[in-house]
Amino acid sequence: MKVLVVGGGIIGCATAYELAKAGCQVTVFERSTPGAEASSAAAGLLAPLGESTDTNFAQLALASWRLYPDVVRELEDRTGIDVEYVTRGTIYPMSATQTRHDAEAWAVNKEFGVEVLEGSDVHALEPALSPKIRHAIFVRGDHWLNNQRLVLAYAQAAAAAGVELSTGCNVSRLVVEGGRVRAVVTEGERVEGDAVLLAAGAWSSELMAPLGASLRIEPRRGQMIALAHVPPVLTYCVHGEAYMAPRPSGELVVGATVERAGFQRAVTAEGIAGLLRAAIELVPSLRELPIARTWCGFRPWAPDSLPVLGPWPGVEGLFVATGHFRNGILLAPITARIMTEWITGGQPTVAVKDFLPDRFVRRPAR
Ligand SMILES: Cc1cc2nc3c(=O)[nH]c(=O)nc-3n(C[C@H](O)[C@H](O)[C@H](O)COP(=O)(O)OP(=O)(O)OC[C@H]3O[C@@H](n4cnc5c(N)ncnc54)[C@H](O)[C@@H]3O)c2cc1C
Repeated sequence: MKVLVVGGGIIGCATAYELAKAGCQVTVFERSTPGAEASSAAAGLLAPLGESTDTNFAQLALASWRLYPDVVRELEDRTGIDVEYVTRGTIYPMSATQTRHDAEAWAVNKEFGVEVLEGSDVHALEPALSPKIRHAIFVRGDHWLNNQRLVLAYAQAAAAAGVELSTGCNVSRLVVEGGRVRAVVTEGERVEGDAVLLAAGAWSSELMAPLGASLRIEPRRGQMIALAHVPPVLTYCVHGEAYMAPRPSGELVVGATVERAGFQRAVTAEGIAGLLRAAIELVPSLRELPIARTWCGFRPWAPDSLPVLGPWPGVEGLFVATGHFRNGILLAPITARIMTEWITGGQPTVAVKDFLPDRFVRRPAR
């Protein structure tokens, strides 16, 4: 089976890799380089605990989080790329009431090692935290990694498994004939395939609109800062108004804004000032650290903030995997598995009802 993947971000590369392992012949079309957009811009937090653990989204996030240790091992074995997977845990500074409420909600999941920290316990764990912080939750199960390296590892593993990576190659059109997707068009060339997976991140709607398809994916800009973190100030990830993730390579990643700014590729004074203010409030000694770099990226957002995963109704052979918004790095392994199950004719092994693309298909008024 020949599968054409549009978009070489984390979602396209991870799925291409799984498809190749399942015996498919795969080509990835990426107009820039693998991971050039949101997948490199991210912080790489793998933090699946949200407001509740019993929604389908929470179950999807947990399922993906559980796949990570094996994914990291496999990619490191196959490529030699160290993805800087850190499993130390995250400290969430909070008010006293909020701490108890959230700890109770989160503690249902024992595998996360959720602990309430009060008074001197907070600073015993992370001495650099502001003395104003008297209550926090420590979630040992929150992990993080270097997402730039992860997407390259997926791309390299995919290529080694036989995937053709067509970089610098823009897809201008999907060809649908007789209710079936037949090909993609790239700079004048038509490339035939049995199935097409649209994984074009925040740009995914552009190729669907000419088909009359009502997939609405919009960009949500995120701005980020890396501080030079040598010698390190923090051991753990700290997550309050801003988050700070210490990377083994010596950067402290501080993020992130969530903005409706179209595709305006700009780091703004207000965005960076807000992040630094929030970070210094939590960890005062950060004010001394040099700013190493700043950047921004575009998260793919669907109107209900949930991912869009599955076959596109009414067009045989067309599949969509996008809308991962704030969690695309976390969700990449499970997305790759689900999409591979679907494309190769199987049934997804996790509950996917809430994520099906048909929730966006316009139905005629009765
Ligand atoms: C600042 C920021 C912080 C984040 N932090 C986290 C985090 O800590 N944890 C987490 O899990 N998630 C995080 N995310 C979210 C995560 O980065 C995204 O959900 C994820 O990267 C989406 O992956 P993708 O492959 O769908 O999109 P992208 O990485 O954007 O990939 C899409 C690719 O498609 C290509 N493309 C588009 N159109 C075409 C075309 N017509 N032809 C060929 N190629 C095309 C693009 O060039 C691009 O490379 C963050 C995002 C941002 C911006």
